[in-house]
Amino acid sequence: MAEARKVGVVGAGLMGNGIAHVAALSGLEVVLMDVNAQALEKALATIGRNMDRQVQRGGIGAADKEAALARIATATDHDRFGDCDIVIEAATENEAIKLKIYQALCPKLRPDAILATNTSSIPITRLAAGTDRPGRFIGMHFFNPVPMMKLVEVIRGLATEDATAEAVRALAQRMGKTVVDAADYPAFVVNRILCPMLNEAIFALMEGVGDVRAIDAGMKLGANHPMGPLELCDFVGLDTLYSVLKVLHEGLGDPKYRPCPLLAKYVEAGWLGRKTGKGFYDYSTNPPTPTR
Ligand code: NAD
Repeated sequence: MAEARKVGVVGAGLMGNGIAHVAALSGLEVVLMDVNAQALEKALATIGRNMDRQVQRGGIGAADKEAALARIATATDHDRFGDCDIVIEAATENEAIKLKIYQALCPKLRPDAILATNTSSIPITRLAAGTDRPGRFIGMHFFNPVPMMKLVEVIRGLATEDATAEAVRALAQRMGKTVVDAADYPAFVVNRILCPMLNEAIFALMEGVGDVRAIDAGMKLGANHPMGPLELCDFVGLDTLYSVLKVLHEGLGDPKYRPCPLLAKYVEAGWLGRKTGKGFYDYSTNPPTPTR
């Protein structure tokens, strides 16, 4: 495939708006699509605000921002994806939803267009089998917040062609990201290693090995982590962490991946971290206070 010129993004949530932001700034034409028109409005406002911050810090010029925003078109259906070189699906993490999207989307795509998914946990090979193009289907896993995080994991399914992987690597590099290749096993590389560490921090809290402050200060000062593990749990979202651990536990069948019962309790309470204002910390105070 020649160098990508136009990129589609399906899903304008947290990840979709970040992907559209970075793609537009790297000079690509972008079609950002969501079933929810309000999500699109919110995404454009977020992208504008985040680019303003980049302008203030001197990372980009005001004219770059305006040009990038002008390259983003929005849509609530798939009709505008017909001339995209690649579409990155970043819709809700639900297999049935993703498969339904591919059914509706694939007939609208150019036959040679690549379809990539940003899924964190669903097997790429299984999703590929639900499309008309397993050879041109691939995992392209960005990290949150997309404009800040340098990594993209590229995950090939069983049928993914070499040319697809090369095109996606080139696209990620053009977007300023560094690529690591990951095999199609549960949670890929980063979450396979990170999520059990976060789970262990919650076990340590549950068992009283340390309190919230001790665990976070310990890992910041003793292991040089930029954020404590419980702080990071709140940032990621406790429901998201819980679902990744369940995928690891079910997919690998090893009890070492069992989600900590205390994590389950926080999720059941609706204390999901920053996004609900409360998790291992209560964010209604400044600085946030531990909730245990
Ligand atoms: P989100 O809930 O913020 O956004 C999902 C968006 O998808 C919503 O705006 C929703 O309206 C939209 N959507 C739902 N059904 C749709 C459909 N049929 N067509 C088009 N849009 C539809 O979720 P998110 O955190 O942005 O996650 C999106 C994907 O990225 C998931 O697969 C997730 O696993 C993955 N991911 C998330 C993170 C993270 O830290 N949040 C990191 C890496 C990858």
